[in-house]
Amino acid sequence: MDAFKFSKATTLDRAVQAAAKSSTAQQGAEVRLLAGGTTLIDLMKLTVERPREVIDINGLPLGRIEATPSGGLVIGALARNSDVAHHPTVQRDYAVLSQALLSGASPQLRNMATTAGNLLQRTRCVYFRDTAHACNKREPGTGCSAIGGHNRMLAILGTSKDCIATNPSDQNVAFTALEATIQIQGAKGQRSVPIHDFYLLPGSTPHRETVLEPGDVITSVTLPAPAAGSRSLYLKLRDRAAYEFALASVAIVIKVSSGKIQYARVALGGVGTRPWRSIEAERVLQGHDADAANFRKAAEAGLKDAHPASENAFKVELAKRCLVRALTMSIKTA
Ligand SMILES: Cc1cc2nc3c(=O)[nH]c(=O)nc-3n(C[C@H](O)[C@H](O)[C@H](O)COP(=O)(O)OP(=O)(O)OC[C@H]3O[C@@H](n4cnc5c(N)ncnc54)[C@H](O)[C@@H]3O)c2cc1C
Ligand code: SF4
Repeated sequence: MDAFKFSKATTLDRAVQAAAKSSTAQQGAEVRLLAGGTTLIDLMKLTVERPREVIDINGLPLGRIEATPSGGLVIGALARNSDVAHHPTVQRDYAVLSQALLSGASPQLRNMATTAGNLLQRTRCVYFRDTAHACNKREPGTGCSAIGGHNRMLAILGTSKDCIATNPSDQNVAFTALEATIQIQGAKGQRSVPIHDFYLLPGSTPHRETVLEPGDVITSVTLPAPAAGSRSLYLKLRDRAAYEFALASVAIVIKVSSGKIQYARVALGGVGTRPWRSIEAERVLQGHDADAANFRKAAEAGLKDAHPASENAFKVELAKRCLVRALTMSIKTA
C-alpha cells in the first residue's frame, strides 16, 4: 500500500471541498472517501487504488433510514447494509432489497459495508485486481486480459471490445428494480440521479463507471412508494450457497391481478456491465398472463442481446432460468 494523508470530515461541505481536489472521481482518483472500507482498503492494499488522500466520512450524519412524505423511503449513504436489510419498513415494503443485501458477502462485511460504498463497489474481474495484468479499466489503453482469458464470472450484457467486467453488487440490482434515485452533494450543489442514469456502459472508457464528478458525495438513496399491491423478490444463483458473488441474479417487483400482470419491473445481476434493467422483459410481461409461456418469452427477450465470451456462454441460459424461476416464485407468494 502506498503512503497517504488521512483525515476525518467533520461537515459535508468539508468532505465535498476535499474530494473536489481530485482530478477525477473515477479510477485513478487522488482523493477517496472512506465509508465501511471493505472495498477501498482491499484495493489500496493491491495498489489498484492509490489515493494520495483518504477522508473518513463516518462522522457525518448520513446513516438515517426514514419514510419520505410521499410514502417512499430515504436510506442514508452511511446506513450499514445489515441495518438496511433488517429495517422493518424495508422487510415489509421493499423485500427485494432486504433479500439482495442478505445474499451478499458475510454478516461481518454487511455490518461494515454502507449503502453508498456498495453502490460504488468495483468489479471482481481478477485482472482488474492484479496489477501484473493489462486492464483498460485500471489503466486506460493497456488492453483487456479477460477477453480471451479467464472470464467465466464476467458480463454478457452491455459489454464492449474494451471491457466485459460485471458489476458485482446485489444491492444495486434491487435498487434498479425499485427505481431508486441517488442523491448527490457536489461542488456545484445538490442533484438527484435515477439509478438507470447513474452507471455508464464501458464502451471505450471502462475506467469511467458512473456519472460522479470530483467533489461529489453521495448523501442518500430514495425509493418511491411501493406500487400498491405489488410483491418483490430477489433470486441469486452462485457457485456456493453463501459468501459468493452472483453468476446470475434477478430482482423483480410485480403485481398480478386475476392472473394478469399489471405491473412488472425486472433487473438482472451477475450478467451485466452495470445493474441491468430489462425493459425488454418488462414489456413482454406487463398486461399479459402470468404463466410459464410468458415467463419464458420474457426471459428470451431479456437475454436476446447477450454476447458471451469464451467461458461464460452458460450464463445466457442460466440467467433465463433464473428469471423464469423468480417469476414463478413471485406469483406463488402473491
Ligand atoms: C470478501 C467479500 C465478499 C463480498 N461479497 C459480496 C456479495 O456477495 N455481494 C455484494 O453485493 N457485495 C459483496 N461484497 C462487496 C461489499 O458489498 C462492498 O465491499 C461494500 O458494499 C462496500 O461498501 P463500503 O462502505 O465498505 O465501501 P468503501 O470501501 O468504504 O468505499 C467504496 C468506494 O465508495 C466510495 N464512497 C463511499 N461512500 C461514498 C459516498 N458517500 N460518496 C461518494 N463516494 C463514496 C469510496 O471512496 C470508495 O471509492 C463483498 C466484499 C468482500 C470483501
Ligand atoms: S474485463 Fe474490464 S476489468 Fe477485466 S481485464 Fe478487461 S478491461 Fe479490465
